[in-house]
Amino acid sequence: MKTTLLTDISVEDICKGFVYNELEGKGLFGWGGKLTIQPEYQRNYIYADGKKDVAVVRSLMSGYPLGLIYFVKTADGRYEVLDGQQRITSFGRFRTGKLAVKDANGMEQYYDGLADDLKSRISDAKLTIYVCEGEESEIKEWFKTINIAGVPLNEQELLNAIYSGTFVSAAKEEFSNSQNANVQKWSAYISGSVNRQDFLKTALDWVSRGNIDGYMSKHRFDTDINELKTYFNSVIDWISGVFSDVESEMRGLEWGRLYETYHKTPYDPVEVSNKVQALMADPFVKNKKGIFEYILGGEQDTKLLDIRIFEETTKRSVYTIQTKMATEQGVSNCPLCAMGHEANRTRIWKLAEMDADHVSAWSKGGATDISNCQMLCKTHNRAKGNR
Ligand SMILES: [Zn+2]
Repeated sequence: MKTTLLTDISVEDICKGFVYNELEGKGLFGWGGKLTIQPEYQRNYIYADGKKDVAVVRSLMSGYPLGLIYFVKTADGRYEVLDGQQRITSFGRFRTGKLAVKDANGMEQYYDGLADDLKSRISDAKLTIYVCEGEESEIKEWFKTINIAGVPLNEQELLNAIYSGTFVSAAKEEFSNSQNANVQKWSAYISGSVNRQDFLKTALDWVSRGNIDGYMSKHRFDTDINELKTYFNSVIDWISGVFSDVESEMRGLEWGRLYETYHKTPYDPVEVSNKVQALMADPFVKNKKGIFEYILGGEQDTKLLDIRIFEETTKRSVYTIQTKMATEQGVSNCPLCAMGHEANRTRIWKLAEMDADHVSAWSKGGATDISNCQMLCKTHNRAKGNR
């Protein structure tokens, strides 16, 4: 791979022919048409928050450098931005009147309204650009390792770069597009943001059973995303079919795994909804996120719910009462040991050797308070299991 350092290209040079797509929120072309600002593998423009984009413009106004920018020289002699898209789009929007910054008096200032000396300070600012030429694979490998200024690329953004092609383009069109009307529905079950590729990542994770890298490699040159889209929609439809409630605790669960495990089991949505509501309102359920899998699994695995345990003071007073009565009767203070025929029948356990048990199991309606607490030796407590 060959790299060339360019230090004589100015902001004004790059802004010649700058095209910004307002709808998709991305800078498209610049440098008199020679430069593609957002190649398909690049992230969406996420500096447009009135802070990071403004900070870029302020840096230029103050005469500060913008840091290294990387271009790739393509086979047809054109250039693509490898790193620096966010910065270029920010100053491009300012230079072309699509972004204003507040001055010291809080007044919005557009480029055209600036004093001439300030205008030329911005326009004449020289950029530090590395141009890379070489095999696609070398450039992509290198792209993976360069330390990227601003917001670092996340894992999915890197994968999009590595496997750029028809499949990624089509997949981004569906899953990385904030204009997609389905995004709101998906957000009920998937956490993260469209711009940072979290929906695409989830869709790929589901269809590939966790092998995103392998799936992207295999489908790289596919011209459609039918399988990806169909599978994703099946999971979403299944969730909303089984669970008519939308609870914030549902967001970000491992729906792909739950779908694979349970989608062939029939559920009555009304019954499911009643169970969800009861468990959401149950003060003993500490892990509300576990409710959905608990119900799907037939309400067996109470570990998913992290049921609130007895307080230390409750355990201590129950221990004291139990031990006093057991000593008087000459039997073990573990009621189950006391019923047995072994050596432990008369054994008085120390507090540390015992655990608290729900007399009536929580899953059968037993409360976690002193009236439902008994102390058992650790062996019997473990053996009793269902608490
Ligand atoms: Zn015992």
